[in-house]
Amino acid sequence: MTVLEAVLGDITKVAVDGIVNAANSGLLGGGGVDGAIHRAAGPGLLAECRDIARRLGGCPAGEAVVSAGYNLPCKKVIHTVGPVWRGGGAGEPERLGSCYRKSLLLAREEGLETVAFPNISTGVYGYPKDLAAETAVRAVKAALPEVPEITRVVFVCFDMENYRLYQNLLENR
Ligand code: ADP
Repeated sequence: MTVLEAVLGDITKVAVDGIVNAANSGLLGGGGVDGAIHRAAGPGLLAECRDIARRLGGCPAGEAVVSAGYNLPCKKVIHTVGPVWRGGGAGEPERLGSCYRKSLLLAREEGLETVAFPNISTGVYGYPKDLAAETAVRAVKAALPEVPEITRVVFVCFDMENYRLYQNLLENR
């Protein structure tokens, strides 16, 4: 059975095979968790993301691409693009759920067994934290049968509000 857990902390320090980045569609780095991941990984990550962006023309919301981990402790970084919150009627839950599902499918393809997610879209993109957490946990649980090799999924929360939300949701699983 796959273990789902919430931790409070910095995703660049978590000991897992792959971490997920809440990237923007240009894949060229940004603030928040994206900035922290690029700083910790070093310049090789930006160079590879530039290459991916050139090849694929970026990454639309709800999709995911993979790169190496460079100076990070993980093997791979999965870059997914969360939706910007526009009130909830513009397909935000489907896109956010898709970020989690596609990231797990890509992790499996890459042979990763342990994966850490940040709270995608809940920073600059303005997604209400409670709604985002529900969608994240639901989407991960729904995808688990498709990714049986994944043994551990960690929701890395950077603030107490998110941490409490995830703890509550995961207690009731
Ligand atoms: P988005 O544009 O998807 O909203 P942000 O990076 O602004 O992305 O925020 C996503 C979440 O990542 C927020 O909850 C933010 O607090 C959190 N975050 C910021 N830095 C880190 C970090 N180093 N590790 C884990 N989470 C982080």
